[in-house]
Amino acid sequence: MRGMYRSGSMKRKKIKTPKRTVLRFRRKKGGLHACAECGAVLHGVGTRKGKGSTPSRIYGGYLCHACVRKRLVESVRS
Ligand SMILES: [Zn+2]
Repeated sequence: MRGMYRSGSMKRKKIKTPKRTVLRFRRKKGGLHACAECGAVLHGVGTRKGKGSTPSRIYGGYLCHACVRKRLVESVRS
């Protein structure tokens, strides 16, 4: 097995061919991104490296819209 396939981020699958069973490798899908404060799933953020983009507002891809709103209101009030 080649070194790059030994990673935990690769999925192994046994494929039956007419002659023998062979191992094939696929990259595992990443998990969903979650809000750092409340843990809600963030929409519009890709699950894989280099795929998708983050919302172009402050804390985009890090906090959900409700938590961003809370933080902004707190910062204005203090
Ligand atoms: Zn949140």
